[in-house]
Amino acid sequence: MRYEKSIQAYNEAVNLMPGGVNSPVRAFKSVDTDPIFMEYGKGSKIYDIDGNEYIDYVLSWGPLILGHADDKVRNSLHEAVDKGTSFGASTILENKMAQLVIDRVPSIEMVRMVSSGTEATLAALRLARGFTGKNKILKFEGCYHGHSDSLLIKAGSGVATLGLPDSPGVPEGTAKNTITVPYNDIESVKVAFEHYGDDIAAVIVEPVAGNMGVVPPVDGFLEGLREITTSNDTLLIFDEVMTGFRVGYNCAQGYFGVTPDLTCLGKVIGGGLPVGAFGGRRDIMEQIAPVGSVYQAGTLSGNPLAMTSGYATLTQLTEESYEYFNELGDLLEDGLKNVFSKYNVPITVNRAGSMIGYFLNEGPVTNFDEANKSDLELFSNMYREMAKEGVFLPPSQFEGTFLSTSHTKEDIEKTIQAFDNALSRIVK
Ligand code: PMP
Repeated sequence: MRYEKSIQAYNEAVNLMPGGVNSPVRAFKSVDTDPIFMEYGKGSKIYDIDGNEYIDYVLSWGPLILGHADDKVRNSLHEAVDKGTSFGASTILENKMAQLVIDRVPSIEMVRMVSSGTEATLAALRLARGFTGKNKILKFEGCYHGHSDSLLIKAGSGVATLGLPDSPGVPEGTAKNTITVPYNDIESVKVAFEHYGDDIAAVIVEPVAGNMGVVPPVDGFLEGLREITTSNDTLLIFDEVMTGFRVGYNCAQGYFGVTPDLTCLGKVIGGGLPVGAFGGRRDIMEQIAPVGSVYQAGTLSGNPLAMTSGYATLTQLTEESYEYFNELGDLLEDGLKNVFSKYNVPITVNRAGSMIGYFLNEGPVTNFDEANKSDLELFSNMYREMAKEGVFLPPSQFEGTFLSTSHTKEDIEKTIQAFDNALSRIVK
């Protein structure tokens, strides 16, 4: 049977871990199937424990921009392992990595490494509050910034409503300090500032939203945020955990030419090991301990294996990598549109560099409400058929599809054929 070993492993896992997984999306609940257990990956391919091969568009949810088990990354990791796995003391590698991030990311004059995207955003918020002396933050509906209390807030109805907790366990007092407004809606931001402007420490935004599918900013949105935050003495934080080094050589901020005060990074900068980072203006970063009084720390921060993998990944990315992603993206977008129109199924494709979002609706998709109009039943049927065709897609309509430098035009052609085969079985 195709998934025999995965099914057995999952049956064991559900008694060991909540939902059988260590992170909820891996349970494949939204596509109404059980998880596939993976064994190894190489380049653009991933292999499950039953020996099935897939073209991988999940890429560990973003980090593997060079594909699986890249030779340089592997070799440098082997060398690093031989020297020891963690020192809890400074290493030259941390300087090299910091310099590289500072050189590449326009807003970053100083940086601090952490171990996940969640840590990066929560530290950036504390810093913004410490620096400005203000309490509230403003975020956007459908943007995910990790699972810290202040950021796990769902949108209230209407404009600029104060949030309610998204998850039991988030204190109401914390939720009250998070304002949520629709993505790409600068008027709502203005209204929020009219009401609460004196007390907003930061606006945090994914410069291309990647957690409601892929939703790029409309013209003027990021520029508008920059203007409003500057005139209100509020910090602008770009959460580039997903977009960092995916949307462009100099991240989304380089691509769109808008410079935030602080930036959060993760995923690609660890090249598959646990890394996050936050950085920005020197005067703000110098408020962090031990120079300043805003506390932040981590036992494994700047870990030598994580720095090695991140450095070996970032140094292999060139301007040409992003041209290549655009070529692959053009192919995939055209192919998807042709196949879906053949079966009379509406599709909207949104793209930014190596991030591609396809929504099963007429579009346009510029915010969370529009993303939500997708045909989720069709998505989940298609997901399961695509897995049978040997294509591993993110198991949710609200996740981005990722490309790596290892993906080939042949991979894209096979993927388009797989969509054709899958739809021919589903759409009668
Ligand atoms: N910010 C964004 C934009 C993300 O996409 C994610 C994770 N998907 C996070 C923060 C949280 O990162 P982590 O899962 O590494 O904690």
